[in-house]
Amino acid sequence: MGLSNESTQGAAAEDDRDDPCHILIVEDEVSTAEMLTAYFSSLGYQVSHAGWGQDAVNLATRIQPDLVVLDIHLPDIDGYEVCMQLRNQPRTEHTPVIFLTERRERVDRLTGLELGAVDYITKPFDVQELRFRVRNALRRSSRETLLHPITGLPTTLLIEEEIARVARHPELAMIGVTISGMPEFSDAYGFLTHDDVLRAVALILRNTATESLGAELFVGQLDLYQYVIVTPAGQDTFVVIGRLDERLNEAASFFYPHRDWERGTRSDGTEIPRLGFDIRLVDVASFTAPGGLNALRQALMGPRV
Ligand code: CA
Repeated sequence: MGLSNESTQGAAAEDDRDDPCHILIVEDEVSTAEMLTAYFSSLGYQVSHAGWGQDAVNLATRIQPDLVVLDIHLPDIDGYEVCMQLRNQPRTEHTPVIFLTERRERVDRLTGLELGAVDYITKPFDVQELRFRVRNALRRSSRETLLHPITGLPTTLLIEEEIARVARHPELAMIGVTISGMPEFSDAYGFLTHDDVLRAVALILRNTATESLGAELFVGQLDLYQYVIVTPAGQDTFVVIGRLDERLNEAASFFYPHRDWERGTRSDGTEIPRLGFDIRLVDVASFTAPGGLNALRQALMGPRV
């Protein structure tokens, strides 16, 4: 069913690999799909397209693209469902996904679901921004998803190892940090500022974790707005949590233009979007699923225990 075709124009991808990176574009709006196909083909990517969600899942399983650009609104199953199905298959579970979202619907749902979304872009989008996002996501993927392209922190594969390590060692504990309000912040101040904030938060987490205990601690990036830290269990954990809470809230003012922060409003009179930091202890011992990434996401999103 639906429209689904593959085009393989373009030889040399703009990424620094020899074989062209393969992008799967999932979008039912013909004009947008054609524009994206032409654009990324012209940059040297190999591009495939699906207009229906279920076709996209089947095609992705078959061709194993390097990246999926995924619209939320599709005629059959929606983009969230497509992403969930990709995550549930070994052939596509680590494939980076960039969501195309509508501005009004917000992307908080993305972090609420266990999708492990790499990134998102809001329609109507700037094609240069999408290109930038695609390139970042592919860089990350070419490093086998070991390091996050924006913050340089270790990502899911290494976090999986840490979950196993903490589960085996009762003398270790895991702390989760979730930033809220970033989509609204990005709408207000742009994606470059958004990325600066993510880098600053990563730096604060790394420095605070190390300074609190005078030892190098593991700091990883689970999803775009979710981080984890491995500390010694017991009192040390709470020392780190207390310090993080203090540092992050102190630093928040520096993320905004000075005048906006002072006034509490932007130049157009609207209230500045507030960032929040949820810092919590994660009960890794309660995880049952192998890998534990989804259990970890649930533990970070659910009510505090
Ligand atoms: Ca659509």
